[in-house]
Amino acid sequence: MSRKERIYLFDTTLRDGQQTPGVDFSVEDKTAIAAMLDEFGMDYVEGGYPGANPTDTAFFERKRTRRAAFVAFGMTKRAGVSASNDPGIAALLQARADAICYVAKSSQYQVRVALGCTDEENVESISASVAAARAAGREAMVDCEHFFDGFKENPAYALSCAKAAYEAGARWVVLCDTNGGTQPSELREIVAAVIAAGIPGDHLGIHAHDDTGQAVANSLAAVEAGVRQVQGTLNGIGERCGNANLTTIIPTLMLKPAYAGRFATGITREALAGISRLSRAFDEMLNRAPEPQAPYVGASAFATKAGIHASALLKEPQTYEHVPPESVGNRRRVMVSDQGGKANFIAELKRRGIAVARSDPRLDSLISLVKEREAQGYAYEGADASFDLLARRMLGDVPEFFTVDSFRCMVERRFDANGQLKTVSEAIVKLTVDGEPRMSVAEGHGPVNALDIALRKDLGRYQGEIADMELADFKVRILNGGTAAVTRVLIESHDATGARWWTVGVSDNIIDASFQALMDSIVYKLLKNRGGVQVAAE
Ligand SMILES: [Zn+2]
Repeated sequence: MSRKERIYLFDTTLRDGQQTPGVDFSVEDKTAIAAMLDEFGMDYVEGGYPGANPTDTAFFERKRTRRAAFVAFGMTKRAGVSASNDPGIAALLQARADAICYVAKSSQYQVRVALGCTDEENVESISASVAAARAAGREAMVDCEHFFDGFKENPAYALSCAKAAYEAGARWVVLCDTNGGTQPSELREIVAAVIAAGIPGDHLGIHAHDDTGQAVANSLAAVEAGVRQVQGTLNGIGERCGNANLTTIIPTLMLKPAYAGRFATGITREALAGISRLSRAFDEMLNRAPEPQAPYVGASAFATKAGIHASALLKEPQTYEHVPPESVGNRRRVMVSDQGGKANFIAELKRRGIAVARSDPRLDSLISLVKEREAQGYAYEGADASFDLLARRMLGDVPEFFTVDSFRCMVERRFDANGQLKTVSEAIVKLTVDGEPRMSVAEGHGPVNALDIALRKDLGRYQGEIADMELADFKVRILNGGTAAVTRVLIESHDATGARWWTVGVSDNIIDASFQALMDSIVYKLLKNRGGVQVAAE
């Protein structure tokens, strides 16, 4: 076991992943994602580019990881100024990061065209920038941009850039396939040449892009050639065709004998069994549909249609499954009788502190209810609080704190006294608490906000209990096209204890879907206050 070589996992979801069209993380998003990655067991979590934009600067005001090294990204110093006079370097050194990852040119062509400095000045910038990070007590690493293309064009120059980083004390020299066009066979040869030139593999990293669909293959080829740090993103997000997908690479490294026999990562087997949840929770945060055919974690990754395969599968799962679905927290889906599902449910309930016997008929009812609701569009992977409530309700563990008798929402678009066009939303909620009817009216920014305010305005004796609860996020997804589309609403809530939970509602009416998710959120909070739930550390 101890003889295995260590592979270090470097996550750049929050930096390179942020380049994905349509992805724009807030500080809150980044904080939540960094915590997920840290908890999962990544060695490095790259947070962004402090000094480049207000979000990243604010994000680096505090260290956002507990176990993982928290990494700030930025450029090497400009030519012609010293590192101590470079404002970019100053911003990096100010960031509350454990490590600094510099991006540097390693292609002679790029130096000339993009930097407009001499070859020697670029090499000097690399050395001086690494030295500045080291002098400030930070771990330093250098992303050698366009390394493989640069090597093909001028191997001696590309190597001189990489060696400058290594000799100045960079912990990692990261070879980047920036435009994603390198093929595994070329990559293998070039990595071997770099090692032969004097940079040991345990100081080399790989950063691959997926432009020919081979970012995962290239990353693994680099590992085989000797590289010991692998960079990538959750679900392979990234600009153009994406970055190397860590959600695929990690199970491969840990479960495939070709790698698992030789290498160890910082991720435990238990954490690996949470990778499907991690992947789906991340998609929910991005408000995008998970890829059903994603390796290991996709909903279809272990799905087999009825027929000879299904019956053989039930008798001998290894026949059709290259790894056990439980090892990555996924489920076997067989359309005839889903025996694999039950064990998963029991495990999931146990994880939440809900004990139920395998023979309990309520368990079967719960499983069929979840399946029925998932078919309607509910997504419990991204709404653990709603799943928790559904399970506890089925098992009779949820008191009826209050009932909602009716609600009504109005949206009015009109001209105000000054002739300005305005849209006003108003909601009325009638509910019963302790047998006493109550009615609340509220205005809000949009109908859902009005409904939320009205619902939380007067909960009788529970009012004080929900005072510290806030909605952190609200996501809407249209599940099928056309005018009769079904809408799924996901709500993220948090309270003063720092706990966060997600609830879901589904309806052909967006207000109704939002209302379901709001109700679940409040009931979950009340249950949580009574110690009735085990809050996952998310
Ligand atoms: Zn990149």
